[in-house]
Amino acid sequence: MAMVYRANSAVLLLGVLAMALPLSPRAEQTSARAAAKDAAPAAPLVIAHRGASGYLPEHSLAAYAFAYAQGADYLEPDVVITHDGHAIALHDLTLDATTNVREVFPDRAREDGLNYVVDFTLEEIRQLRMFERIEPDSGEQRYPARFPAELGDFRVVTLAELIELTQGLNASTGRDVGIYPETKFPAFHAEHGHDIAAIIVEVLERYGYREAEDRAIIQSFEPEPLERLREQGVRLRLVQLLGENDWGMNEVDYEPMYTAEGLAAIARYADGIGPPISRIIVGVDGNGAPRFSTLVADAHAAGLLVHPYTLRTDALPEGISADELLYLLLEVQRVDGLFIDQPDAMVEFLRLLSSPQRATWPR
Ligand code: CA
Repeated sequence: MAMVYRANSAVLLLGVLAMALPLSPRAEQTSARAAAKDAAPAAPLVIAHRGASGYLPEHSLAAYAFAYAQGADYLEPDVVITHDGHAIALHDLTLDATTNVREVFPDRAREDGLNYVVDFTLEEIRQLRMFERIEPDSGEQRYPARFPAELGDFRVVTLAELIELTQGLNASTGRDVGIYPETKFPAFHAEHGHDIAAIIVEVLERYGYREAEDRAIIQSFEPEPLERLREQGVRLRLVQLLGENDWGMNEVDYEPMYTAEGLAAIARYADGIGPPISRIIVGVDGNGAPRFSTLVADAHAAGLLVHPYTLRTDALPEGISADELLYLLLEVQRVDGLFIDQPDAMVEFLRLLSSPQRATWPR
């Protein structure tokens, strides 16, 4: 624990120092750096999963600001739509696991006992206190060692507010951090009269994100909205998230998408895939060495970027350290980005890779 804390502090300090450096002329430098970063396979994107959600309640403005300061390249919000059509940064379709909705609105749950975002207006949701994820019925934290759920007064933010935070920090630091929203459950939203992909694109366009080189990427577990955006001429980069059929989150059959033919089909409308890490590192052999699928190579052959999810340094697979996992994904498999709850761990890893210490790594 102590070592982790010290490493994090050092990275934060570096982040602060980096931000203090005079950068001029700002625009040319940042766009050149951004282009170099996206083009260079040696610099995979640090994608802050729900903000620096390993340290602060997911989707809070504080978690995003922290991720920014830690050096993330992209800030990732999940997006859900309110009753009155506003895009908010939240993972679940329901409010019960991350807000005090049951206290504030005791009689608004559906028959399943859950309070759905789509049944509440933005004004109502703004009255809620947001906190670290709990199991709604027991009140226990999902990740007990993270930010205590009883502390702080965090609020749900809109996608627009998150973009304003990002663009404001880009202006004040000279960096060019991007935004990477996910359309949560498009079919569910369509049933409730909301075209979530169109709403997200509208917000992004309002803030100037329109072209493939702009620092915004849209992700979705359902192909339909991405295919439709592409048909409509949306030029932003699109990433098809890949899941497992037995998760039961939608009607999509993911199995064919993992084949070379499936990847070629995805490449017709998307720029990349977001697979689970477990589809890249698929196990260990008899000697304990990692076994890989051909997914990254196949996706690259199809011209797709690969941004796997989700690395959590405090919830790792059995028998592997965060640095080992980072090494396997970034250096051995050469993925193009990674969704991570602790962006500082990846920033620090990349810094070590590019330093003279690299010769002695991995330890
Ligand atoms: Ca997500």
